[in-house]
Amino acid sequence: MSKLLEVSDLSVAFGQTHAVRGVSFSLEQGQTLAIVGESGSGKSLSSLAILGLLPPQARVVSGSIRWDGRELLSLGDDELRKLRGEELAIIFQDPLSALNPSLTVGYQIAEMFRRRRGARREEARRRAIEAMTEVGIPDAARRAENYPHEFSGGMRQRVMIAMALALEPRLLIADEPTTALDVTVQAQILRLLRKRQEAGLSMIIISHDLGVVARTAQRVVVMYAGKAVESGTVAELYSNPSHPYTKGLLAASPSARDTGRQIQPIDGYPPDITAMPSGCAFHPRCPFARERCRTDEPELRIVAPGRTSACHFAEEVLTHGEAVGNTRA
Ligand code: SF4
Ligand code: MG
Repeated sequence: MSKLLEVSDLSVAFGQTHAVRGVSFSLEQGQTLAIVGESGSGKSLSSLAILGLLPPQARVVSGSIRWDGRELLSLGDDELRKLRGEELAIIFQDPLSALNPSLTVGYQIAEMFRRRRGARREEARRRAIEAMTEVGIPDAARRAENYPHEFSGGMRQRVMIAMALALEPRLLIADEPTTALDVTVQAQILRLLRKRQEAGLSMIIISHDLGVVARTAQRVVVMYAGKAVESGTVAELYSNPSHPYTKGLLAASPSARDTGRQIQPIDGYPPDITAMPSGCAFHPRCPFARERCRTDEPELRIVAPGRTSACHFAEEVLTHGEAVGNTRA
């Protein structure tokens, strides 16, 4: 199958500090890829780079981002802006920051149809109400007259999804789309996204929640300290992780698997990217670390068909299966 999106060897830096270090991943049409990791792992930066929406202090220092055969890193601002309107869309964790507080929600959605599709006022309004109805906002014609602060968190996220999908993008990047929401609303939002996936939408979902990932994605890239440390299908990676960090994330996740096991947080904290540990960046927290891990940085390598891992001892971690994680207690 042809790749819709191909990110190769991407590095993003703040000044001299590399926050994303040589990350590669790709996405096929109609697929959903999850990027997981703790905060500060570079997962959001990697996807903001795709959209050309990096914060002003950050810049891409190397790599390539190909979208449907075009190199996005060589596009100008206008071309990127056009692409963001037409083909690429993003929703954030905090929809309030992305909405204009002083304009009604209906007006903000209608504006997109007016500006991008040349719709007349009445037509744009009608389509805005349609878009709101489609994401499950009840009584949309009336709600269209409300301002963002008059919506609950869950309804605001629906508004964001309606805006993001209004112009029928080919790729939706969802950055922690349900993190701020309670469990019931989270389930509703995930159902909504799943419906769109079934209709053929390609997605990148960014999350620290492996339960959310399991319900939305086919493939996963796990990031740690700016690097991809493992990738594979959800099924393989969840049932048999090949990197100790992935194993730790699974053990720490309340919703990833219903094994009835105790939740076990990973010891310690992710490193400060300005003071990266020597060797494997995960070694200070890794229950499998040995001498070599303190000096040699592991390369991301293929450890099984369709699977990569950046652990010197990936094969061991793989074959140990369940037992190894329990030895930490
Ligand atoms: Fe742990 Fe060593 Fe593997 Fe890094 S290379 S994840 S420290 S075992
Ligand atoms: Mg983030």
